[in-house]
Amino acid sequence: MKGLMMDRPLRIADILTYAAEVTPEGEIVSVRTEGDIHRTTYAETHRRVAQLAHALRELGVRQGDRVATLAWNTHRHFELYYAISGIGAVCHTINPRLPPEQMSYIVNHAKDSILFLDTTFVPLVEKLMEHLPESLRYVVMTDRAHMPETTLPGAMVYEELLAGQPEAIDWPEFDENTAAGLCYTSGTTGVPKGALYSHRSTVLHAMMVGLGLPEALREGRRILPVVPLFHVNAWGLPYAAPLTGASLVFPGPALDGKSLFALMDREKVFSAWGVPTVWLGLLAEIREQGRVPEGFGDVVIGGSAAPRSMIAAFEELGVNVCHAWGMTEMSPVGTQGNLPLAMKDAPLEEKLRLKSKQGRRIFGVELKIVDDQGNRLPHDGKATGELYVRGPAIISGYYENPEASAKAFDKEGWFATGDIASIDPAGYLEIRDRAKDLIKSGGEWISSLDLENVVMSYPGVANCAVIAVPHPKWGERPLLVVVPKEGAKPEPGELIALLGQHFAKWQLPDDVVFVEALPLTATGKVSKLTLREQFAHHKLP
Ligand code: ADP
Repeated sequence: MKGLMMDRPLRIADILTYAAEVTPEGEIVSVRTEGDIHRTTYAETHRRVAQLAHALRELGVRQGDRVATLAWNTHRHFELYYAISGIGAVCHTINPRLPPEQMSYIVNHAKDSILFLDTTFVPLVEKLMEHLPESLRYVVMTDRAHMPETTLPGAMVYEELLAGQPEAIDWPEFDENTAAGLCYTSGTTGVPKGALYSHRSTVLHAMMVGLGLPEALREGRRILPVVPLFHVNAWGLPYAAPLTGASLVFPGPALDGKSLFALMDREKVFSAWGVPTVWLGLLAEIREQGRVPEGFGDVVIGGSAAPRSMIAAFEELGVNVCHAWGMTEMSPVGTQGNLPLAMKDAPLEEKLRLKSKQGRRIFGVELKIVDDQGNRLPHDGKATGELYVRGPAIISGYYENPEASAKAFDKEGWFATGDIASIDPAGYLEIRDRAKDLIKSGGEWISSLDLENVVMSYPGVANCAVIAVPHPKWGERPLLVVVPKEGAKPEPGELIALLGQHFAKWQLPDDVVFVEALPLTATGKVSKLTLREQFAHHKLP
């Protein structure tokens, strides 16, 4: 028997309509590419989003059309998120840090009809133009006064499109499973693959994240998404923040420690979200200034493993760390690392031990680990296997890519994350490695993440990575790549001795090399693929 309840579709536009009505003063603060600070509210944003939606329709955008963005975290990018999906089209965010050939691949693969771009990306797109579809139209996200000279054919000015359009709109009704957003993975193995989010998955994900991270997501909180709007919906913040009444402070293009500190201090940011590499810069600036930015009380770290030393540094400064894990294919949040109430007064050491893990699942995400034959492994904190996930905000296939889709799921329909993990009886997930980053030595696995965690605690180390190097006898052996802190000269022997206190001899790196910086992926994580290529012929002692 079916329930007797209304079957109203979950629509993304309703989130903003709700925020405009219920928390109309919620703010969106943006550092604009023009250099100044822009302030607006959810109420005002709803009016501009309505104008943009009318403009899109006038440009001929119809339900299902893909409309691309190449833009920083700013209010205009936020407006596009809502206007494009609001009229039933698909907001395709493009990561500007992708190699140019991948960028043109995904514009062609997605068959985008319009590209909205920030002024800073005009030269990039001009160079790329010959590889883009001739029918593609361009809108530069600025006003007439700041419009650059450009060879982009028929380039339109964003503010001119909005001017004069009605400030109200009746959002159209459609099935909640209608596509709303498209984001391609960075394609470190093969061509980029598209995750095609729906209205239903996006609204549910926003609720799931709001429920899972209530410290950050509530009325009056001020959140800094350092995570980009151009990749995996800035971890869902453009939806979860207005839904919960939290304000957003968008940093624009400058993401160095100094710029972030100054912005957070001025805007009294409570919670900041981003990948570990960003926080290395902020922590250095905090040390320099001898204080944390005013009002700063919470940091959400994800995208790659947060080193224990980084978690300790924030916690000792009185900033709560929430270590989260997720993937593009999961909208993206899977787990969150806030501790249960019972742990409130636990000793710092115990808290750090748990916070170094990747946290517990949020509602709507199921986790399982399996062995090589696909048999389920126990959640005992010891058994380690490949992690599979299931839930209403997880992809059921890749966009127009049957080959990749065929490989991504098991017989029961769970999605293969490619991560190797254990889960303890209390539900804490521990990511041991990406399957492709594990080091296989003489038939045994060595976790690069575990080794890195210890090395990061050494005072002279700014950053590090452990990678596999081919070895004639053992297949692969670990190599430790270290970025020293400015002026520091870590001793290789001391680093290995430090590791020796925690690991068996056969797990220790065979060699240590020093570099000025580690290569980063398009999403700001350390690129182990590039490092492995760089050191493929490294002679181990
Ligand atoms: P990419 O950036 O490569 O396009 P994603 O952003 O989807 O892809 O990255 C997802 C992957 O990032 C996960 O499968 C996992 O390997 C890694 N990851 C994310 N968060 C964490 C974390 N907290 N700890 C360890 N690894 C993480």
